[in-house]
Amino acid sequence: MKPSEIRIPPELLPSDGRFGSGPSKVRADAVRDLAAAAPGYLGTSHRQEGVRSVVRALREGLSDLFGLPDGYEVVLSNGGATAFWDTAVLALIQRRSRHFVFGEFSAKFAKAAAAAPHLEDPVVVEAEPGYRPEVGPAGDADVCALTHNETSTGVCMPVSRPDGSALVVVDGTSAAGGMDVDPREFDVYYFSPQKCFAADGGLWVAILSPAAVERVERLESSQRWIPASLSLGQALRDSRLDQTYNTPALATLFLFRHTVDWINSNGGLKWSASRCARSAEGLYGWADASNFAGPFVTRVQDRSPVVGTIDFDSRVDAKTVAAVLRSNGVVDVEPYRKLGRNQLRVGLYPAIEPDDVRRLTGCID
Ligand SMILES: *Cc1c(COP(=O)(O)O)cnc(C)c1O
Repeated sequence: MKPSEIRIPPELLPSDGRFGSGPSKVRADAVRDLAAAAPGYLGTSHRQEGVRSVVRALREGLSDLFGLPDGYEVVLSNGGATAFWDTAVLALIQRRSRHFVFGEFSAKFAKAAAAAPHLEDPVVVEAEPGYRPEVGPAGDADVCALTHNETSTGVCMPVSRPDGSALVVVDGTSAAGGMDVDPREFDVYYFSPQKCFAADGGLWVAILSPAAVERVERLESSQRWIPASLSLGQALRDSRLDQTYNTPALATLFLFRHTVDWINSNGGLKWSASRCARSAEGLYGWADASNFAGPFVTRVQDRSPVVGTIDFDSRVDAKTVAAVLRSNGVVDVEPYRKLGRNQLRVGLYPAIEPDDVRRLTGCID
């Protein structure tokens, strides 16, 4: 029998087969409510109250979710976290940045800073895939770039402010909403909505501390050329009016706000983080007990609660396992494309039922 002909008995299958690390499972309730709201919402002006009220509720909901201290602001614009790296290179790094790199995403921000002609070469502190660097003092850097969860490897890093006056700029793209964080430990926490927030891609959100706002305003009024679509100052001014500089995807805004409300009404970040932790326990516990699989990340405290990576021994071909799962409707557990390991990677975001993770491991067995 060919692998693609293997039929998993329906009673073993998860209730929802989406385990991608981004885009990730979108909640059926949110899609149903979007369809119901569509006639008065989709296809209406983002400059009018209907859409602006959604943006306002989203900004307030995120402020509640993260328990933001006074003076912190929720800013959003178009382009996703990748566009935010370019924005940060122009609008946050003054002279030099220090990057803690332990996978593809953290490396990309360092690369963007290295390519900028107006900046000095960044300092890069790097760890092998599967490990993370220790976050030491910022040295002479004015931005310290951390990554709360390295989605390419399933390694997480504590968000804690290193010694020094550098702005602490944290890529929270796959962590935000599924891992606890103390806002006093960062100046910028940025993310996209297609991971823990179970929406579509295309937007970025950045939470700015008062020190970050001050930096943005200072660089805006300097000689530096900052294109308007990449200007954090412009995004800040528009966000204060519950708008975006140019047209956002209205469906994404709706789904994003829906998940933020869902998490807040269930108990907030502590609740969603414990739900992810429960899914992660199920996955890593299964792998630890398995005689053909094991967690890729050696140090238990570095294992991500939101993106699990599982290595297989040479008797089991992960590609074939992923292909069989896919042909049975269980999708997107392939490893990060550039990591090149005999591995599966499993999204453990809040929208994913912990029970479905258990069912997934049953299907793999
Ligand atoms: C997905 C991801 C990104 C890129 O997000 P886009 O919305 O695709 O630009 C950046 N950083 C991390 C940690 C991610 O997981």
